[in-house]
Amino acid sequence: MDSLTASDVQDDVHPEQIQLSVVLPVYNEKGNLRPLAEELREVLESEYDHWEALFVDDGSTDGSYGVLRELHEEDDRIKVIRFRGNFGQSPALDAGLDYALGEVVVTMDSDGQNDPADIPRLVDKLEEGYDCVSGWRSDRDDPLGKRISSRFASGLRQAFLGTELHDYGCTLKAYRRPAAKDMDLTGEMHRYIPALLSWHGYRIAEVEVNHRPRTAGETKYSWQRLPKGFLDLINVWFWQKFSGRPLHVFGGLGILSMGIGSLAGLYAAWLKLTASANLSETALPLFAVFMVMIGVQFFLSGILADISIKGYQHAKNEEPYRVRDVLDHDR
Ligand code: UDP
Ligand code: MG
Repeated sequence: MDSLTASDVQDDVHPEQIQLSVVLPVYNEKGNLRPLAEELREVLESEYDHWEALFVDDGSTDGSYGVLRELHEEDDRIKVIRFRGNFGQSPALDAGLDYALGEVVVTMDSDGQNDPADIPRLVDKLEEGYDCVSGWRSDRDDPLGKRISSRFASGLRQAFLGTELHDYGCTLKAYRRPAAKDMDLTGEMHRYIPALLSWHGYRIAEVEVNHRPRTAGETKYSWQRLPKGFLDLINVWFWQKFSGRPLHVFGGLGILSMGIGSLAGLYAAWLKLTASANLSETALPLFAVFMVMIGVQFFLSGILADISIKGYQHAKNEEPYRVRDVLDHDR
């Protein structure tokens, strides 16, 4: 059977009926799901008339899906999207944001580290006129090593991305529908959401939120993920800076380098002709050839980058995940 896509199942529903969708990526969180779902239901029931909680099972192998199915059978406002495999937290968030029906969409971790009681505060802030309100874990409940690496990563992001947030990594965020629908999250992109949105002109605010220790299961991120996250950061930064016309950047560098190489070559030829120096003892000819070659490489890279960006834009409708089942009475 072909995989379902968001648009296949969304066609005949009425998004205006649901005020709030909560999206929760799940990867092996069996022990955390029921207590969290109960907390979440209590908060949502007291605050909103029409809501849905969308759990995205990102290929769990610990029986999380069984628990989610039970939760859905007990309360059909709890809905489940089950991936065919483990695609990662970003694709899981992407799927949840794609499927969400609410006017406002909140994302949060499914391990209980984010506190459902913070949701109304984020939504209130959103109503002050923002498109995205991001949680700031001012008092983080993670081991020291993790807090340090996360501080370091936040500093790097600030330096590269130019958006001024205290905390980029917090999953607990609230979005207005247009912002929620205007993101393609692949790789480790969930770490850069505020930058991606503010580059597109969305207004972002930050609100301090509670952060709790994990009570069951294990963290899915170790320090080995840092280099991957860093590469994605460079990628996001580069994308923002140069995606318009990479050829303009690479081509300029290429021309500069070829120019310097050619001048060095001409100078070397002049020296040779006037026999005023023994060229074989200088590095000048080698330098000239080297610079011209580098220049050609830059130029070709620019052309390749242009081609691949066009290809990317063309293929952009491709989702970064595959869905196995959807548990949702509305769809
Ligand atoms: N997660 C996911 N797919 C993954 C890794 C993580 O859906 O490949 C989910 C995980 O179940 C949790 C959230 O993403 O709800 C954050 O993961 P985790 O708690 O391990 O990260 P940490 O809080 O340690 O940074
Ligand atoms: Mg966690």
